[in-house]
Amino acid sequence: MTEHGRAQYLIGGEWITPPGDGVAVIDPYTEQRIGEVAESGPEAVHAAVSAADKALTNWSDTPVEERVAMLDRVADDLDRDRDRIAELVSREMGMPLALSRVTQSELPASVLRATAQLARQFPWSQKIDGATLERGAAGVVAAITPWNFPIHQIVAKVAAALAAGCTVVLKPSEMTPFDANALASLFLEAGCPRGVLNTVTGTGPITGAALAAHPGLGHVSFTGSVGAGRAVAGLAAHTLTRCTLELGGKSPALLLPDADLDTAVAGAISSGLVNSGQACNATSRILVPVDALADVESLVHKHIERYTLGDPSDSGTRLGPLASQRQRNRVLGYIADAVEAGGTLLTGSGKPSQISEHGYFVDPTVITGLPEDAQAVREEIFGPVIVIQTYTNTDDAVRLANDCDYGLSAEIWSTDVDEAKTVASRLHAGQVKINGVRTRSRPAVPFGGRKNSGYGRELGTLGLEEFTEVRAVMA
Ligand code: NAD
Repeated sequence: MTEHGRAQYLIGGEWITPPGDGVAVIDPYTEQRIGEVAESGPEAVHAAVSAADKALTNWSDTPVEERVAMLDRVADDLDRDRDRIAELVSREMGMPLALSRVTQSELPASVLRATAQLARQFPWSQKIDGATLERGAAGVVAAITPWNFPIHQIVAKVAAALAAGCTVVLKPSEMTPFDANALASLFLEAGCPRGVLNTVTGTGPITGAALAAHPGLGHVSFTGSVGAGRAVAGLAAHTLTRCTLELGGKSPALLLPDADLDTAVAGAISSGLVNSGQACNATSRILVPVDALADVESLVHKHIERYTLGDPSDSGTRLGPLASQRQRNRVLGYIADAVEAGGTLLTGSGKPSQISEHGYFVDPTVITGLPEDAQAVREEIFGPVIVIQTYTNTDDAVRLANDCDYGLSAEIWSTDVDEAKTVASRLHAGQVKINGVRTRSRPAVPFGGRKNSGYGRELGTLGLEEFTEVRAVMA
């Protein structure tokens, strides 16, 4: 038996092992099986939604202060178990341990606390034009999440849903089922009543689809790829259930002509390569003034040196392996296509990186000279691949930044913050970060996008509002 065995699911406070064929969960560094996951399937999904529905009235009637006190306790438990959780995520999907500690333990703890605080101040009841506007729980929430920042993505949904008085059925990625269950155990330990948080295991097309299509839901909150997001929204449309869709990105880092190039290139590369580029808001396009291209290229060579690949548990490792062999093949396919389209590999070989006998590694790859319609310029690669594009003037820079099917995030680098804000107001993106602000340092700021990046917001007051319904009472 492998170290984690078969992932269980949680219904009404009981852990259950799904029968049937299992799919291996692979550590992408060792390429060894660490456990397996099997389909909970439609019947278990139905049982989970029923358990959540049964728990709903009591939980939504529980005073807000009591609901969010539980979130604070989970945050404390996450702090206590910080290393264990970070290691688990690192084993499941290859994230370097140091990054895992910051983004999978510390960030979720701060999101839990920030959500608790916002819920205390939230306008649950408001007077408007002689009416009382009451906001209450939207109902049972389906939370469907990906593998790339797994604990953070679960917490971004579950914290706000529970604070709003909803109950939840969570379907985590089939690649990362164990961290989700470790987190669910922390909720139970913190006193989460039976049925308030349930989990199901399995793949998207079977267990995920059964969940998204279930008629007993009040809201579907999905994070993942555009294709799966469309499928989920289509399934939820049959029951007219509202969705929040947090999908992909192809985010630009726009270096204005007056930017401090050394700092800007270092910062843009860092945001582009975080988690080996497996971040929905990774700055996978760097936009530079055409006459600064040569300087930018030499700065890329200088800064890329710091991105050492290696064992995720090694403190010197900056980039871990990609999360799966499939993901590596996909990324290498994009690089081959970019070379075919006339691009130049400024860094990277376009081949599997040979730093060890095992591990799905790809070198950090920066590409120049691509036409605007190249796949690597337009599509989300989800790997350590950044393309450099050149512009002639500010209008051209804004055109290039917005000429994209996605609209999740953008960065602007400039020594003139007012000018950067003026340019920011022209960008079609859900977040614009000036001079290296990090999303993770602002856990109460709403996150989400437009166009193919989806709709709705997570985090902050807007994220809380997604899980509420409004009743206007007039006397
Ligand atoms: P994915 O779409 O393959 O899977 C995400 C989740 O959806 C998984 O739990 C999966 O099992 C489930 N799923 C897949 N098909 C489904 C279906 N037909 N019905 C119901 N559920 C289904 O995505 P992934 O590979 O796990 O994650 C990478 C993607 O997620 C990237 O595109 C990335 O940009 C996106 N992402 C977006 C954000 C954001 O906040 N905008 C954050 C992180 C990742």
